[in-house]
This record gives sequence, C-alpha cells and structure tokens, in this order.
Amino acid sequence: TATLYIVPTPIGNLEDITARAIRTLESVDWIAAEDTRHSHKLLQHLGIKTRTLSLHEHNEDKRTAMLCHRLKSGESVALVSDAGTPLISDPGFILVRKCREEGIPVVALPGPCAAITALSGAGLPTDRFIFEGFLPAKAQARMNLLESLQDRTCTSVFYEAPRRILDTVKDLQEVLGNDRPIVMAKELSKTFEKYISGSPAEVIAWLTAEPAHQKGEFVLMVAGAPAQLNSTPPEAMALLKSLMELLP
Ligand code: SAM
Repeated sequence: TATLYIVPTPIGNLEDITARAIRTLESVDWIAAEDTRHSHKLLQHLGIKTRTLSLHEHNEDKRTAMLCHRLKSGESVALVSDAGTPLISDPGFILVRKCREEGIPVVALPGPCAAITALSGAGLPTDRFIFEGFLPAKAQARMNLLESLQDRTCTSVFYEAPRRILDTVKDLQEVLGNDRPIVMAKELSKTFEKYISGSPAEVIAWLTAEPAHQKGEFVLMVAGAPAQLNSTPPEAMALLKSLMELLP
C-alpha cells in the first residue's frame, strides 16, 4: 500500500511552498487537485510534471473509492487544494477518513494556512481560539452563530468571501455592538497584505472608504468576551471559604 500525502500550497506568495512539499509533489504517482487547471499553474511554475486528477466537493465520494483502490495497488497520491492546507474549509475529509479506516498511510505536511497566518499576525489572544470557517449562508443560521459569540471568551476566526465581507462585519456589529475588538486580515502573504483592527464600526468605515478595500481575500477575527472574573455566586464563595478553613 502506498501513502496519501496532504500537501499545503501557497495562499498568495509562491515562495511559501516548502522544500518537502515540492519533493513530494514531484515524487508521487498522482496529484489529486481541487481544480486541476488552477494547480497546473503552480506545478508549471515549479517545473513539476506529475499527473493530476480532480477531487472537489462534487466528486469526492466517487474519487475516494478510486483513489483508495490506486493507493492499495501501490500508487502514491498527493492531495492539494487551490490554496493553503487541504481539508481546512476545503475538500479532502472524506478521502482522509476513508484512508484511515482502510489502514492506508496518511502523511500530512505542515504548511501555509490563512487562519493560522492571520491569527499569528493579528495581535489577538491565541492561547484559545475557535476556527469557524465560513459563516452559514442562510440569515437565521448566521445570526444564531453570531449570537453564540456573545459569551465566548476565546478568539473566533472566520473565512469570508469579498462579496460578503461588509455584510458580515455589519452583522457582527448588530449582534456584538462596538465594544469587541475585531481584526480583519486581507491578502495575506500578497503585495497588498493588510491588517485592519478596531471596532466593527471602524472596520466598516475602512471597508467603505474605497471600492478596492472590499476586494481580495479576508480572514476575520473577533476578540473573546472579557472573562467574568467573579462569576461564582457570593453564597458559593462563602461556603468555599468555610470549607477551606477546615482543611489541614
Ligand atoms: N485551505 C485554505 C487555507 O488553508 O487557508 C482555505 C480555503 S478557503 C476555500 C478560502 C478562504 O481562505 C478565503 O475565502 C479567505 O477567507 C481565506 N484565505 C485564503 N487565502 C487568503 C489570503 N491570502 N489572505 C486572506 N485570506 C485568505
């Protein structure tokens, strides 16, 4: 049985591919790509001639059966998505789960990921965070999700499409007001990379200042709610205190 490699690719800057990723893409029998035409550009840039086939959300079920068969017959496969780390708001979960179930070796390479890059550069607490991926498209589900941020004390990380970024920040403002700091990371690792930090009102002002400000790729981060330092009821504190006195 051969190995399935999960291979992250750049999220903008082509220099961000690792030496190991290049060597893996060169040496496998197949590259399974979310969009083969898109990945061909990267492969061409790297001078890699490995055969490709497509694996996207509409054919992942069918492709999984076929790829597991190939892996078992000794052909190795590298999975790539259009950008960043496969499976992170990208296809691949069905394939990796199946390989794990069938005892096919899976090796995931470390590499670029927009969420982690944004988080490490934002200046928000990173000791605990929740990655939410894309917000639900339906209005009610969206609002429910945003409301769940009200009491959340850790940092939240979202991916957002340019056509929705302004509406999403407005929804955040509606649900959380202007007291919770947010950070919007735009065009990470690209020429016009930018972090906009402030209240939702300040980020909305920036987004609407120029049409170009709403174009590109965005990671949105929301600071956690301030931790309730004294959330233990006074009766419980009194009881705790008297119990402590009994301790040796
Ligand atoms: N698998 C990818 C990863 O590891 O980051 C994410 C794929 S997801 C379909 C695409 C989303 O990731 C974009 O809509 C955007 O929210 C975010 N993204 C990708 N590249 C980015 C970049 N260079 N700057 C900011 N956000 C980016």
